[in-house]
Amino acid sequence: MDLNFECTMCGKCCHDLKLPLSVSEALLWLERGGDVQFLCEAVPWPEEPAEDNLLAQHKRRRSFAASSGALPARIVVVIAAAFEGACPHLLPNLSCGVYEERPTVCRIYPAEVNPFIELNTQQKACPPEAWAPDKPILMRAHRIVDVQTAALIDKSRMADAGDTGTKALACAHLGIDTAALANEGLTIYLPPRAQSVAALKLARETGDTTGYVPDWKVASNRQETVETLTSIGASSVFCTSLNAESFQYLGFFAESA
Ligand code: SF4
Ligand code: SF4
Repeated sequence: MDLNFECTMCGKCCHDLKLPLSVSEALLWLERGGDVQFLCEAVPWPEEPAEDNLLAQHKRRRSFAASSGALPARIVVVIAAAFEGACPHLLPNLSCGVYEERPTVCRIYPAEVNPFIELNTQQKACPPEAWAPDKPILMRAHRIVDVQTAALIDKSRMADAGDTGTKALACAHLGIDTAALANEGLTIYLPPRAQSVAALKLARETGDTTGYVPDWKVASNRQETVETLTSIGASSVFCTSLNAESFQYLGFFAESA
């Protein structure tokens, strides 16, 4: 089935977001006076997955190697511009104030960057007329056919993969060392703006991170998860949204002590 789309410039998608940014985009966002969050999750990684395990290979590309005690892990860090209400760059006439330099993810919306997530028009902010059949074709047979959008998605995935070493080092400079167990939640750090800029720049200058395997703690708000992780040698911490000190814990499940 074909999916047609053309932006109506309604501005609805520019509200209440955690906008994933590349390192370059994060620096630009910070230097314009915005703040960024570091969203962290840990994937236990006892062994390398098979080449044809596409989901695991996708996770591998966008993460860096770490250890948590005796447990090998991979850490996914998303740097996100977070805001409630309107984006600080949304103008009163609902146009984007940084249109020519807006983040890649803004250019890709409403398409999905993650190849394992199907675009669902019901979950998008765009009004019905944006999807009208007379609009340019965006997808055919579940594949993006709009050339510009497809190229932007590739660019975003490449930046995601290329930034992992810089993120590993920046987290070390910022004292970010605790990630939520993947699929259970996220740890969210909001370092002061100047510190984030300095850490990202320093990390980027350092360059090669071959052989760098930092030690991370794995957090959960479920005691049984912490006990399981501890039993396999992980450095695990029980934390709730209330007791985390340097970060916020966003759990996808109810707490269980
Ligand atoms: S940067 Fe521009 S396009 Fe992106 S959310 Fe903000 S106003 Fe919208
Ligand atoms: S919600 Fe959709 S139609 Fe409205 S500005 Fe965003 S991308 Fe365009």
